Amino acid sequence: MSKNLLITGASRGIGRATALLAAAQGWTVGVNYREDRAAADAVVAQIQAAGGQAVALQGDVAIEADVQRLFEAMDALGPLQGLVVNAGIVAPPLPLLDMSGERLRRMFEVNVLGSYLTAREGARRMARSRGGAGGSMVLVSSVAASLGSPFEYVDYAGAKGAMDVLTRGLAKELGGEGVRVNAVRPGLIDTDIHASGGQPDRAERLGKGTPLGRAGRAEEVAEAIVWLLDDKASYATGALLDIAGGR
Ligand code: NAD
Repeated sequence: MSKNLLITGASRGIGRATALLAAAQGWTVGVNYREDRAAADAVVAQIQAAGGQAVALQGDVAIEADVQRLFEAMDALGPLQGLVVNAGIVAPPLPLLDMSGERLRRMFEVNVLGSYLTAREGARRMARSRGGAGGSMVLVSSVAASLGSPFEYVDYAGAKGAMDVLTRGLAKELGGEGVRVNAVRPGLIDTDIHASGGQPDRAERLGKGTPLGRAGRAEEVAEAIVWLLDDKASYATGALLDIAGGR
């Protein structure tokens, strides 16, 4: 029987690649998007054309009512067994000295509050003591959490550090509930996030300096996420898995 998986921010990039791969491996996928409905519909259409099952679901992860509505829409599909906490933002590079309070607020609202709200709703549904069937949760953090990203993204790095802590803490809270919680920490992956951060060529330019000599592809991160979701990773919980070309 197909298992139900929700992926936040799945209309493009790493979320989209994960949706396509997970659906090909038999998951029924909730493709969350915030505003780019056409892109989410295209992901769903691509999955369905390949014989898989998916549904597009709108919701801003930084808004609690949206997150609750999103999970209620998933409830209609049956028990939730997988969750990818993927939606995230960056902003143009700046030293902390020049960052506005509004930028800091938005960074933490989406990347931290959004991740905590999403993880909470997923945990409430998957925990066996709440009537759930158990499951697996994967958070998409970043190696920035260890690097600190000085002069550019200390806000983003801090938000991702919070996601690492959430991963480790929640893995311990949910171990007895039949729920595994892990994180992947991508390095420089060639997606649109760099354009939204004002540096469209960032991954290609800086990827050359990594030990593997290139930027990564969204599909390469998706492979790790889908493995962690799967029962094949049955003894992995609380892990932070760097998919970063050695960065
Ligand atoms: P992307 O910009 O292509 O995708 C991000 C997705 O999140 C988009 O679909 C966007 O619409 C969605 N999103 C943003 N804010 C949202 C909100 N409030 N509610 C719902 N959805 C929202 O970027 P990506 O590279 O695919 O990023 C996916 C995740 O990977 C992010 O958490 C990012 O921080 C992380 N990551 C990316 C890289 C990289 O180099 N690309 C490196 C490390 C970590």
